[in-house]
Amino acid sequence: MANYDRNFTDELRARLSIVDVVGRKVALNKKGQNYWGCCPFHNEKTPSFSVNEEKGFYHCFGCGEHGDIISFVMKSENIDFVSAIKELANQAGLKMPDYKPKSAQQIAKEDSYFDILEKATKLYQKKLYEPEGKIALEYIKNRGFTDDMIKKYRIGYAPKNNLIANNFVNLKQDSLLSTGLVRRGEYGMYDFFRDKLMFPIFNASGNIVAFSGRSLDGSEPKYINTTDTILFHKRKTIFGLNFARDAIHRANRSIIVEGQIDAIQMQNNGFPETVAPLGTALTEDHIALLCKSNRNIIFCFDGDAAGQKAAERACDIVMPFIRDNSDIKFAFVSGGKDPDEILKKSGETAMRKIIDSAESLVDFLWDITNKNFLVSTPGGRSQAEKFLKDKINKIKDVNLKSEYEQEYNSRKFNQWHKWTKQKKEIKIKLPEIDTVTKNTLIFIANKYPFLAERYMDFLSTLDIDFDASAPELNLDDVAAEKFIVSLKIQKYLEKLHKEKKEITNIVLSGDIGASSRLKEIDEEIQKYQDKLDLLISI
Ligand SMILES: [Zn+2]
Repeated sequence: MANYDRNFTDELRARLSIVDVVGRKVALNKKGQNYWGCCPFHNEKTPSFSVNEEKGFYHCFGCGEHGDIISFVMKSENIDFVSAIKELANQAGLKMPDYKPKSAQQIAKEDSYFDILEKATKLYQKKLYEPEGKIALEYIKNRGFTDDMIKKYRIGYAPKNNLIANNFVNLKQDSLLSTGLVRRGEYGMYDFFRDKLMFPIFNASGNIVAFSGRSLDGSEPKYINTTDTILFHKRKTIFGLNFARDAIHRANRSIIVEGQIDAIQMQNNGFPETVAPLGTALTEDHIALLCKSNRNIIFCFDGDAAGQKAAERACDIVMPFIRDNSDIKFAFVSGGKDPDEILKKSGETAMRKIIDSAESLVDFLWDITNKNFLVSTPGGRSQAEKFLKDKINKIKDVNLKSEYEQEYNSRKFNQWHKWTKQKKEIKIKLPEIDTVTKNTLIFIANKYPFLAERYMDFLSTLDIDFDASAPELNLDDVAAEKFIVSLKIQKYLEKLHKEKKEITNIVLSGDIGASSRLKEIDEEIQKYQDKLDLLISI
């Protein structure tokens, strides 16, 4: 593995979706669990090249090529391992590290840290059922935890004295310090967690890498977590994922709640696909981790102002990850409650109602835009548009981005500019237009609201109800614009011809003075007829 630490290649695999990496070179379509495309390594017309996002590998059923993101870049670009890593680091926005391979010594070190944390967990678990842990045990039982749950999640109690520092006196101080369990003080080592209800934090393989301790005497902060160590990175760890992974796969979605007690209660009351970030801050790494399984996430927040803010942040973070097959939703638990309380007081059915009625990302973003800005004023609308544009620009999938733009253009058109409902004063009375033209215009106005805006002055002179429904047409925005412009010219020409007829009558009736106007009209007609001919010929 050259000189690169497995940590870094793992990091790349975690950060980058193989569908994105392969998708840069091969057009992929999702069919069933996998994505399919035409193999870049052999010549074929029907796709036999499959990509499995969750497992992170590709396989060609035609030629047998097989590998992960790194081998894909190496083979498809014909470059060596180091260059492929560089290319992928660039795609992931990561700096190339100077990592050296993990030495046998370091691996042994990490193993010994796992060992210390495992032993510490057992000590904490034991303490919970001893007299010292009475308050902690009462607390957790009051929160609806059964003995089975306590055992499964390996919940324990860190007493007031230095349990760990005293129990590991024979161990090298540096090893113990590296686990984050103790700190060095003026008078020697002391425990980092004291008088805390202890929730172990597991890595994906089910090893304990850190702890989250809850205060029991009402002191703030409510939770303290192990500070980052070799084994534990708070920003990259999701609480409960080791227990939820299979369920996330089965349910084809994950639910993210705010707290770890909520996550545990959800997992044990009908929502095993639930996880929680550690502390309140959700990160891109958390989402990237979940997206390895699928891109269907329901965020579940408390219904208060803080929950609303957290949801807006989550929306920001999730935008770059969405694809056309993603289903991102936002649920809010109202009444100052959290999922734990809902489950306890009203049960699983009430919670399921909240989850099932979650708002889609499209609606949520539209709602916060309308909430955050005064869209009844031009200034507010301008700010709101910038806000929306900024969010939409985070979407990486080009087609999806354009669909979002059109969706919001249509909402802006229908909800912000209610001009279709309050028609402007008609400037020129024009002859009726036929049904086909009418339907075409209705279709255009709804599909391409920006065109409706652009030609509002003209369109509002026509007697059309733009709220009516019209059949779908195969018309892109360029053709649509051409349609409107040529109609506009045609209508103008009709008007000129009408005027010409009237003036001709005046001239014929003896008013020679009107003949100069007739000449002007003839010139104008010629000019617009040329324009129209040109437009139609394009
Ligand atoms: Zn092939």
